[in-house]
Amino acid sequence: MKTDLAALELGELEEFVQSLGHKKFVAKQIYQWIWKRGVTSFADMTNLSRELRAALGAMAVVTLPEVVQHDVSEDGTEKFVLRLADGRRIESVFIPDTPKQTFCVSTQVGCAMGCAFCLTGKMGLIRHLTAGEIAAQVRLLAKSTGHLDKPFNIVLMGMGEPLQNYDATMKALRMLNEKDGFDIHPKRVTLSTVGLVPMMDKLAQEELMPNLAVSLHASTEETRRAIVPPTRKYSMQAVLDACKRFPVSKRRRIMFEYVMLAGVNDSDADARKLVKVLDGIKAKVNLLPLNAAPGIPFERPSDERINRFGKILADKGLMVSVRKSRGGDIQAACGQLIVEGQSVKQSPAQRLARQL
Ligand code: SF4
Repeated sequence: MKTDLAALELGELEEFVQSLGHKKFVAKQIYQWIWKRGVTSFADMTNLSRELRAALGAMAVVTLPEVVQHDVSEDGTEKFVLRLADGRRIESVFIPDTPKQTFCVSTQVGCAMGCAFCLTGKMGLIRHLTAGEIAAQVRLLAKSTGHLDKPFNIVLMGMGEPLQNYDATMKALRMLNEKDGFDIHPKRVTLSTVGLVPMMDKLAQEELMPNLAVSLHASTEETRRAIVPPTRKYSMQAVLDACKRFPVSKRRRIMFEYVMLAGVNDSDADARKLVKVLDGIKAKVNLLPLNAAPGIPFERPSDERINRFGKILADKGLMVSVRKSRGGDIQAACGQLIVEGQSVKQSPAQRLARQL
């Protein structure tokens, strides 16, 4: 079995090259080839000795997932369906926006959380991604979209719940933060969670702490329990308390994502309750009009209703934005990531949601 050098942190790569009888600094050169230049062939690593390139060819590989489908939306959003080494498929999305370019990456194949409005949740969890597979999506997107040497942001909002795959996600962030690689500052990374409270507390202790986004989606325990199943284990109040404990620096805020579902959580009363529950938290609310899809038992509220809801929040002093849906025509928008051909099931929340 050959060692995949693209799955190693720099320290691990240093140990590997030292085990071959080479100096530590060679690992930095290899890391730069892989991450800064997007190279996958040892033959192209021209500042390494011939002897080392031959040894690496015999003992190691540099993998990159295979792109099996690439769709470009009318708005410039690009969706990549990637095949992993075991044949499983995941999706990653490039969202072009001036001046920010964003890569949305997956952390699991499928997702166990089963949110009632999300197609990925219908798949259930198939498996966790490895750190190498998470980081490789960034390398592939950077290479494919011409960003190997240009700045970009990362959002961990693709398929999966990152805090359920904690160790691999954090290792991937360390790999992406490496100075000899992409050198991505944690401020340019946003991790989105449904609110796994113990893991949120663990994240709060990390040195490389990304921005936190919490999928709240409701202003009452009852509504949230119906559409975000993990709430049955971690109440909304427990999630909000974890947010209050989460260290947020002066110029940062916790983003609360709120998918807007017509007749479920979009009333004036819901908006007023939301203002109350976020009291005392440095919050920014991102309203996400539902990306309706077959099999999702909800409808998108009207623009008028969404604007009215946002105005109530803003009038009460909350920072609020309405997310423009991107890539809807290629099924790349939020909650639309699903890889056909992998098992799809209906979650208990989705069954329950049908009764709302
Ligand atoms: S919204 Fe996120 S956490 Fe919920 S099922 Fe979909 S991918 Fe999982």
